[in-house]
Amino acid sequence: MDSHAEATVELSTISGNVEALCEHVAPAAVMAVVKANGYGHGAVPAAHAAVDGGAAWLGVVHVAEALELRRAGIDTPLLCLMAIGSDQHADAIAASVDLSAGSAGMVRRIAAAAAGAGRRARVHLKADTGLSRGGATLADWPSVLETARQAEAAGSIVVAGVWSHFASADDPGNPSIEAQLAAFKEALAVAEGAGITPQVRHIANTAAALDVPDSRYDLVRVGGGTYGLATLPGGPPPWLRPAMTLRARLALVKRVPGGTGVSYGHRYTTSRETTLGLVPVGYADGIPRAAIGLPLVWARGQRWRIAGTVCMDQLMIDFGDEPVAEGDEVVIFGPGDNGEPTAQEWGDTLGTISYEIVTGIGARVPRAHR
Ligand code: PLP
Repeated sequence: MDSHAEATVELSTISGNVEALCEHVAPAAVMAVVKANGYGHGAVPAAHAAVDGGAAWLGVVHVAEALELRRAGIDTPLLCLMAIGSDQHADAIAASVDLSAGSAGMVRRIAAAAAGAGRRARVHLKADTGLSRGGATLADWPSVLETARQAEAAGSIVVAGVWSHFASADDPGNPSIEAQLAAFKEALAVAEGAGITPQVRHIANTAAALDVPDSRYDLVRVGGGTYGLATLPGGPPPWLRPAMTLRARLALVKRVPGGTGVSYGHRYTTSRETTLGLVPVGYADGIPRAAIGLPLVWARGQRWRIAGTVCMDQLMIDFGDEPVAEGDEVVIFGPGDNGEPTAQEWGDTLGTISYEIVTGIGARVPRAHR
């Protein structure tokens, strides 16, 4: 590690996770979701690793994210889950990026962009089966289908997919899962009745892909699982391995007397003479300010509590009489093999999910891909 901190990303772990997921969900295919800079792991390297592991599709949210992958030479089928600006549709279509549409208006805008570009857009029609986020309600679904059928007949689009998204797939047994599956089945039947035959049908995210076999259809959209994370209770199964380790080097070590107030607001006071170590990452790097006092930093084979307020760029550890030195490495999270915290533990402890921890790692923390 050359810099103050580093997020090490094991690309072979990403490939291995995707390979294991492909096996788990077969005959369904895997779309590796690499939105939000590959959940903080680096979109382009994560995408390459996922494709190496067998991902037949990639998923992103914004057109800009899709174009970044295409510019990097990645020609895998690629779905833009939320292509917002119609001014971007032509670029996406030209780059053979599939677009999602959840309303008749959106189908028309994509079809117009395709007609303008003299190309056929590949569109995935999104049904809202109960999440109440993107997608057409089942009341609006027939008009979306009719608009798509007309655009298909006019040669401006092809319906590449019909899809939806769960509200509570990470809550095994939640009745909304069955209800959404039934609604999706209904949406597919209505589509078929309207003469729409999608190439792929997809509704499952990581939690559903792992836990709800009936949800796998042709394709599962796996974000967290790609990186060895899952939002299921208890986290991912042991055969998925976290790919990111966040580490830093102690920037300063000093001895201070007992009764010393530490960091902003002196919310921690040393109980006796002790050694303080400065870890040069803070909330601007993605370490939640709420982590004060938590035993979530690992060094010299053991856990250490964060002493006092997490600052924007740094946090302090009270190392007692441990012989730490400037330049020593501390681990903030990793796969957990040596007792270091995982992103899952950070999320559980802070009342959030591992995804928020890894996507929150700031841009100034260099990613090292191995
Ligand atoms: N599909 C959609 C529409 C999403 O928004 C997401 C992520 O939020 C995913 C799939 C991937 O979910 P997960 O990371 O839980 O696999």
